[in-house]
Amino acid sequence: MPAPEPCFFCDSMLGRLVRWLRLLGYDAVYHPEIGDWEMLRQCAAEGRILLTRDRRVMERWQIGRGQVRAALIGSDKVEEQLKEAAARFGLEPQPEPRCPEDNAVLLALPHEKARDRVPPYVYQTQTSFRSCPGCGRVYWQATHWRRIEAMRGSISG
Ligand SMILES: [Zn+2]
Repeated sequence: MPAPEPCFFCDSMLGRLVRWLRLLGYDAVYHPEIGDWEMLRQCAAEGRILLTRDRRVMERWQIGRGQVRAALIGSDKVEEQLKEAAARFGLEPQPEPRCPEDNAVLLALPHEKARDRVPPYVYQTQTSFRSCPGCGRVYWQATHWRRIEAMRGSISG
């Protein structure tokens, strides 16, 4: 059996990175409202890898003793942040993208069912739609998958 894919907790400074991890299909949560202690507790309880830009957090005992895996992200640019995480954890696009808003796995949406949920031009020109069971948003290839492809190129390049 292949190892399960890593899942992540992005700290309050990584609100753009969390969206990209989800689009790539990784389970990634973001709770900027909670404090460091609760963040570390959730990481330990759920086996999430903490991604943080805060060097002080890296000095917490939960990380020092190996109770929580964590990685310090150096860049403030999201493209570079994703490259850092991809290099560190061997990330690549997963078969099932997740909703960038709420982390739910997106479901394939049959073309005819998209008719009332997207602009007419999009309905006529796009062939592949996905919908989010969490927030109900509909995603389609031109806007979203193209960005994923671009990001895939930036990871490998
Ligand atoms: Zn959603």
